[in-house]
Amino acid sequence: MRSYGSSSFGKPIKMKFILPLLTAGLFVLSSAAQPVARTKHLFIITIDGFRWQEVFTGADPLLIGNSDYVRDTGLSKQLYWDSSAEARRQKLLPFFWGTIARQGRLYGNRLLGNKVNVRNFYKISYPGYNEIFTGHTDAISSPNLAIPNKNVNVLEYLNNTAEYHGKVAVFTSWNVFPFILNGQRSGLPVNSGYEPLCEQGDSAAGLIDSVMTTMRPSKTRHDQLTYLSAREYITQHHPSVLFLGFGETDEHAHQGRYDLYLQQAADIDRMIADLWYMVQTDPYYKDSTTFLITTDHGRGWKPNKWCTHGFWAQGSGDIWMAVLGPDIQPEGELRMHAQVYQKQIAATIARLLGDPAGPGHPPGKPIAVPAVAPLAGLPLRSATAPTGAPAAPATGVALAVQSR
Ligand SMILES: [Zn+2]
Repeated sequence: MRSYGSSSFGKPIKMKFILPLLTAGLFVLSSAAQPVARTKHLFIITIDGFRWQEVFTGADPLLIGNSDYVRDTGLSKQLYWDSSAEARRQKLLPFFWGTIARQGRLYGNRLLGNKVNVRNFYKISYPGYNEIFTGHTDAISSPNLAIPNKNVNVLEYLNNTAEYHGKVAVFTSWNVFPFILNGQRSGLPVNSGYEPLCEQGDSAAGLIDSVMTTMRPSKTRHDQLTYLSAREYITQHHPSVLFLGFGETDEHAHQGRYDLYLQQAADIDRMIADLWYMVQTDPYYKDSTTFLITTDHGRGWKPNKWCTHGFWAQGSGDIWMAVLGPDIQPEGELRMHAQVYQKQIAATIARLLGDPAGPGHPPGKPIAVPAVAPLAGLPLRSATAPTGAPAAPATGVALAVQSR
């Protein structure tokens, strides 16, 4: 554990000040031996191919009025338009900008110089999720095909620890996740595509399953059904680590339907708000659950390229990340110039849970997520400045969240 602080330069420090400083330093170091974090549970949520542009500036002025992409431009504008970007993003994503912005952190507003980027060459889904969950950016022979991933993922690492064994669950809309997460090797319970819950004696699960049997076969399940399945599983089994992968934003974008892409994003924001309300009103999860929300890739930034993504479409590597939880120092959208990468997210996930599989598993340097002050009566974290010391800047680069 390291404690970073600003030092004084130029003037020699008088000896009489050194002893108190050393004492303070020792106190912080000894406290760091017993760090305390409140996060016991982590929900990782992904919104497939959802651009940073919409996260930080709401509906795109060059797209929302374009009848090639929006069926009813007047109605879409009524729902999501405002001349101010702040008002637009609030209209589109009220949970992001009402709750996460107040209580959490949002990385990736490139207009402020804060950047999150994909590191893999492809900038499409399989390599993106591989990067998020394994920390690897290796060449993939047939990207996006249902081929078992050779890389070990962070959920697998967690599931192999005593603390989280049997407490990890995955619910995704896209049906390639059993291969990306190599469910056969990892043994993770991965519910993807139109896969039923099959919960004995659970009438709600039975209802969700019966609705799914009526759906037209597709590689991507309706996000609402994925969400309802996950929600029912959470109610019944209380997993500690959950990955919830939404997929329809990417589907609507590929179809060139900017109106439906916005509708879906707003719906996902509402589902995440519902999930947050659910955990914060359940004593098992309340004030001990962190959400990490991100995307697998960006999309083209040019008005005629927003539907697509890949190494050929400029902007596809530009992404974002949001965190919200009891240990997270609230900062809203980060305003400092910084660059982090998707391949750091796997290690960040492990770090938020206190690196239970040991440092370096999975590989990568965690993204710095500054922590709030410790609970009253509990030992100080090493990230907390000693009393009387200048407050450390809440920049997202100076301090790291502490292990539990
Ligand atoms: Zn796509």
